[in-house]
Amino acid sequence: MSRSRKPDWLKSRPPSGERFTEIKRILRERDLNTVCEEANCPNLGECWSGSASAPGAGDGGHGTATFMLMGDRCSRGCNFCDVETGGMEPLDPDEPRQVAEAVAEIGLDYVVLTSVDRDDLPDQGAGHFAETIRAIKERDSSILVECLVPDFRGEPDLVREILDAGPDVFAHNVETVDRLQWPVRDRRAGYEQTLSVLSQADRESDVYTKTSLMLGVGEYAHEVYQTLSDLRQAGVDVVTFGQYLQPSRSHLEVSEFVHPDAFDTWRRVAEEEFDFLYCASGPMVRSSYRAGELFVEAVLR
Ligand code: SF4
Ligand code: SF4
Repeated sequence: MSRSRKPDWLKSRPPSGERFTEIKRILRERDLNTVCEEANCPNLGECWSGSASAPGAGDGGHGTATFMLMGDRCSRGCNFCDVETGGMEPLDPDEPRQVAEAVAEIGLDYVVLTSVDRDDLPDQGAGHFAETIRAIKERDSSILVECLVPDFRGEPDLVREILDAGPDVFAHNVETVDRLQWPVRDRRAGYEQTLSVLSQADRESDVYTKTSLMLGVGEYAHEVYQTLSDLRQAGVDVVTFGQYLQPSRSHLEVSEFVHPDAFDTWRRVAEEEFDFLYCASGPMVRSSYRAGELFVEAVLR
C-alpha cells in the first residue's frame, strides 16, 4: 500500500448538519476548544452530528465532543500532533464553569476532557483540570467524566489531585511501543513514565484506566504484543487502537496504512488473550471515539 495515497477505508465525511452547527455555536460563544477541531480528527463530522458509523468501529457517535482545556497551544511538540507548540497563554479561571455549562447545554451524559500539556505552570495544570471535573460533577453528579490527562512528568501528587476530583475513567495515552516513544512523542514523555502514571491511578483509586495506541508509525507486531502485556501488568482496563494520520508534511510520516482486519485482530488479542475490559480498534478509532457508548456497554450493563 502506497504511503502517499489514503486507502478507501480512511475516507471521512466533511462535518455538516444542525447538531454540528449547534455544538460549534455553543463552543464559540463560550470560547472553548475541542480536540476534535484542534487535532483535525477524522470523526468530527459524525461525532458532532451523531450519525453514521466510521469503518471498523461499529455504530457512530451520538453528539460527542472532547473538550481541550487550558488553551490551544501546548508546551510540548510531539511529532504526530497538530497542536501548536509554545506561546503559552495564562489559564482562563472561568473555563471550568464554562465547560460544565456547555456540557449541560449540549446535553451530554458522558464527557471526555483532555488538555494540552502545561509544563510552564507550577502544577502543570493539574489543579485546573481537577476543578473542571468537579464543576461538571457538582452541576450534575450523574454525568460520567473521562479525563485524558498529560503525564504530569510522573509526579504522583499531581496525578492524585486528578484522582481526588472523582473522574469515572482515567485515561493517559502511551501512543506507541517502547522503542518508538521518540521520535513519535516529545522527549519529555516516555514509556515507563506513562506506565507509572496509569499504574498509580489503578492502585490508588477504583477509577477505570484507559490508554490508546496509534498503529502505522513503524511498530512491529511483537512490540505491540509486549505493550499490551505491559499495560495489563500496570492494571490498565481499556485500550484503543487507531491509524496514525500525518497532519502535515512536517509531521512524522505514516509508515503503513494498517488494514481493518489487522485492527480487528488486535481487538481480539486485547480482549481475549489479555482480558482488557474492552478494546475499540479500527482505522478511524480515536481515544474518545464512542467512549461513552462502549463504557456503558462494558461496565454499566
Ligand atoms: Fe472528537 Fe473524539 Fe469524536 Fe474525534 S473521536 S471527533 S476527538 S469526540
Ligand atoms: Fe499534542 Fe503532544 Fe501536546 Fe499532547 S503533549 S497536545 S500530543 S503536542
